[in-house]
Amino acid sequence: MVTLVTNLAREIKEFLENQGAATVGIVSSSKVEDALQAGGTSLMENSQSVVCFGFPVPEGVFASPVLTESQYWRAVNMLYRRIDFLSLDAANFLEAQGFQSLPLFTCFPQYTERPRYIGAAQLVPIAVAAGLGGLAKCGLLLSRDFGLRLLLGGILSTARLEPLNTGNAIECPSDCWKCIDACPVQAINRSGKVDHERCLRHSTQNPLFAEYIRDKTRRGEYGYDLLLNTLGVEDHSMYTCIACVKACPKNYTTR
Ligand code: SF4
Ligand code: SF4
Repeated sequence: MVTLVTNLAREIKEFLENQGAATVGIVSSSKVEDALQAGGTSLMENSQSVVCFGFPVPEGVFASPVLTESQYWRAVNMLYRRIDFLSLDAANFLEAQGFQSLPLFTCFPQYTERPRYIGAAQLVPIAVAAGLGGLAKCGLLLSRDFGLRLLLGGILSTARLEPLNTGNAIECPSDCWKCIDACPVQAINRSGKVDHERCLRHSTQNPLFAEYIRDKTRRGEYGYDLLLNTLGVEDHSMYTCIACVKACPKNYTTR
């Protein structure tokens, strides 16, 4: 029988919080199996637990009346790096205790089943199961403390850690549809389904990717997903729309 590693759950939480994570939860991997597979194959055999953590984008980025999209671009790309470094460090921390562990990166790698763009792990349902927030009407994570501003990372591990629900889930008010109504290209329907391709065409510009993908020879040689992952990653693409995230009144708690 596998026993719960109680102290290790506390240690990994402290480890992540000491590195700046604003919120940390732990959930049994059996509760989020569907979120832990890529193309129908499990990310890790014998995994027992998923640790999920979040860093907020500062509220002032959304409130700023100028350069909002480009400031958001800089903020999230800095946080993506920080979160991914921390997922790597935490996976190594758990492996040093004898438990095989896989970092769950925050944005890349992605694979496509177009029009869907899919991350290796589905961090939003994992975060919901760990109590970092509730599932917002627009399909993002809605946190009591941070609204839609949390970016997520995680670690999948063979360590059977004591579950930790952060109790930060809230539900969208029944009469609020601001995030969905804010989308200028109607990429989100009222059931929360997002047309990723329609969103990306409006919300992201990547001159390098556009050049390569237009070139049939290069596209044939490298394939869409390889070009997406190498040229689309982080700083190479600029946001041109964050209207849905910006519209949420739950983002704004300071003055
Ligand atoms: S980022 Fe812009 S285009 Fe994409 S879903 Fe949000 S509002 Fe719509
Ligand atoms: S804008 Fe309204 S509906 Fe959308 S996530 Fe925020 S609270 Fe929920």
